[in-house]
Amino acid sequence: MTTPNSINKIADDVVVTLEYTLKVDGEIVDQAGKEDPIEFLQGQGMIIAGLEKALYGMAVGDTKDVKVLPEDGYGPLDPEAIMEVPRAEFPAEIPMELGTELTIAGDGEDDDEEYEELEARIIKIEGETITLDLNHPLAGKTLEFSVKVAGLREATPEELEHGHVHGADGFEYDEWEEDEEEAK
Ligand code: ZN
Repeated sequence: MTTPNSINKIADDVVVTLEYTLKVDGEIVDQAGKEDPIEFLQGQGMIIAGLEKALYGMAVGDTKDVKVLPEDGYGPLDPEAIMEVPRAEFPAEIPMELGTELTIAGDGEDDDEEYEELEARIIKIEGETITLDLNHPLAGKTLEFSVKVAGLREATPEELEHGHVHGADGFEYDEWEEDEEEAK
């Protein structure tokens, strides 16, 4: 890259290119390496809060291990998000196995959207009762990130106005915002 770049440290409104490995309970659950780093606008809540906080001041090439507690990650486990459902209420095509993931229709009570879809996992099967967990799979977990700053650049005025990163050709990564909403 020959583009002059006045940005040398991570601060608000800087576009960060980041490689990372995410471990939970010692196992790798997510990874973005040299080939597929993430790019985001710092300070906009585009990434996990606890990780974003730890990045301030880092320079290109810097590495860091960041431990994020559930409160700053995917939140604590919500006991109310665990529900028991009679086996008879499940469509026959859903495999009744531990860990099966399914999408169920929410009641929409806490949401503006009329048709809310919720991700659930089967965590217990006992007789005719199936227990579903609607928590995010990483809720209640301590997240262990290893990160490397692969690049920093100034955000364009348009990116700042939108609050998110655009691609090289001005491509809109609006789906990122939706991902972020789901993660909350
Ligand atoms: Zn945009």
